[in-house]
Amino acid sequence: MNRLRSFKQRWGILGLIAIAWIVTLGVCALFGNLFTSHLNQDLKNRLQAPSFSHPFGTNNLGIDMLGLAIKGARISVLVGLASTAVGFIGGSLVGLTAAYWRGRTDRVILTFLDASAAFPSFVAAISVVLFWGKSVRNVILVIGILTIPVIARIVRAASLPLVERDFVLAARMQGSRHSQIIVRELIPNVIRPLLGFAMITVGITISVEGGLSFIGAGVPDNIVTWGQLIASGRATVEGSPHLVLIPASLIFGTILALNTLSSKWLRGRPFPVVKESVAETTSVGNASHAAKVISSNPPTDVVLSIENLHTYFSTPFGSLRAVDGVSLQLRRGQMVALVGESGSGKTMMARSLLGLVPSPPRVAGLPGRVMFDGQDLLSLSSEELRKIRGRRIAMIFQDPMTTLNPVMRVGRQIADTATLHLGLSKKEATRRALELLIEVGVPDAQRRMRAWPHELSGGLRQRIGIAIALAAEPEVLIADEPTSALDVTIQRQLLDLLDRLRRYRGLSILFITHDMGIVASRADEVAVMYSGRIVEQGSTLEVFAHPRMPYTRALLASIPRIDHESHKKLAVIGGIPPIAIGPRVGCAFAPRCPDVIDACRTEIPQLVGDTHQAACIRNVVGVT
Ligand code: SF4
Repeated sequence: MNRLRSFKQRWGILGLIAIAWIVTLGVCALFGNLFTSHLNQDLKNRLQAPSFSHPFGTNNLGIDMLGLAIKGARISVLVGLASTAVGFIGGSLVGLTAAYWRGRTDRVILTFLDASAAFPSFVAAISVVLFWGKSVRNVILVIGILTIPVIARIVRAASLPLVERDFVLAARMQGSRHSQIIVRELIPNVIRPLLGFAMITVGITISVEGGLSFIGAGVPDNIVTWGQLIASGRATVEGSPHLVLIPASLIFGTILALNTLSSKWLRGRPFPVVKESVAETTSVGNASHAAKVISSNPPTDVVLSIENLHTYFSTPFGSLRAVDGVSLQLRRGQMVALVGESGSGKTMMARSLLGLVPSPPRVAGLPGRVMFDGQDLLSLSSEELRKIRGRRIAMIFQDPMTTLNPVMRVGRQIADTATLHLGLSKKEATRRALELLIEVGVPDAQRRMRAWPHELSGGLRQRIGIAIALAAEPEVLIADEPTSALDVTIQRQLLDLLDRLRRYRGLSILFITHDMGIVASRADEVAVMYSGRIVEQGSTLEVFAHPRMPYTRALLASIPRIDHESHKKLAVIGGIPPIAIGPRVGCAFAPRCPDVIDACRTEIPQLVGDTHQAACIRNVVGVT
């Protein structure tokens, strides 16, 4: 009873009428031939108006119009469904290709779509049907092909924001193939709004068939469709308008019903919106925490060596130097923190390591190497790189909501990564997913295996992200601000978890953050980035105790300290980070530096020092 009531509430009276209409239409399309085989001419009763014996009247041959309408529903519905299917298959392929590969592929496809929009499609449909010959198949193909550009645009528009989402990037990071990403990550996320549009398209294509038949360019004359009924009633429309009005009303009613169902269906099953998490709080850091730097696992062997890495992008104003000659080493079991303001190049550096840089086009031929297990990652093919991503080097992202596929249960997301990289069977992968959930501290793990991402808290979602990253037992974990969207308690739990993983698994972590408090208490070494370059690096203890670069000092001064007097304003770094376009001249920090001297504006400071390096002229020449 309750179900019936909630069904009524959900669809409303209009929705129920629309359902009744579509169900009736479906029955007529499927079984109409059983009732209409006896339709005979009755010239004595020709052109009769609607009456009790003939509810839809009769045509110029005296045939019952109700029977013809039922008979015509079959081909009209077939044309509507089949041409919509053709349009959606073609449009989805084109739209997904444009959205996924973007860049030049997208521009070329858009040019074709723009050109096709300027083309008089109805005239083209008439010409092609008449050229190919009038048949149901040709009408379906022509209408379907003509809907491809519209559907391609919609699929492209729906997919573009998803392609930039972290869960797609995470899938690439996990080493999924392009086809797997499109099928598993993109299509399930665009299918719901597209199904709503598909319902509308079915109605539109039925009316287009009616239009084509009306002007004699539709299905052959001996096949009954609603469009054919309109066409055949045209000659007697003045005396018997019902011959045109009734089939036209059927088309109108079908479009109305499908539109109503589409809007009700979409409202009843909302598109799973990926909420942007808002950072609740950040941890309260204290420079004195540097004394507590973890040193339980002294670093020994280098697992990842970044050497003079450059990532430039072509822009209309010149090359943008996102990463400008970065060198860094990560050792087994070590956590290196990469810090700096937003826009300093931290994330771009991390993504450059594994070829995950977005458009605009990256400038090719720049110097640099990323050595991992004796091979330069920058020289690997995309297929070779795919086997390393997710399998040996994994990544976790800032926003735990956007890194998970919103339409896939979390257990399956973890299991799929294990299957992809470790070749586990479905049963083994599910067991491994459960073990990982327990390992990362998800309470009630068995039940949570079947949870949707939106059912979990931010902390749990981030644990799921870590479980996915660990599913293939990687050696290196790149953590891109993984705790900045979490509250302090959850943040601490996750940092404890990462500590345990590197102690017991020997996991090496490149931890990207702007939170100096986390760096002070967790990282073995710290590298400070500014304008695409590392400007200071060394052991966390040394850098925090004796910062040499004014920028590092400014970052440290911005940390809230428990020994500061209450309500004291935090120090801020004046000015904004520069946009690194064009040739580098002098120190990039010079416009904001309180210690700037004339030489800073002309000389480019280089990193100097042994275990503690800084790129500051005053540090080099000893000016104080
Ligand atoms: S080089 Fe000059 S401008 Fe740059 S940080 Fe050092 S003192 Fe400041």
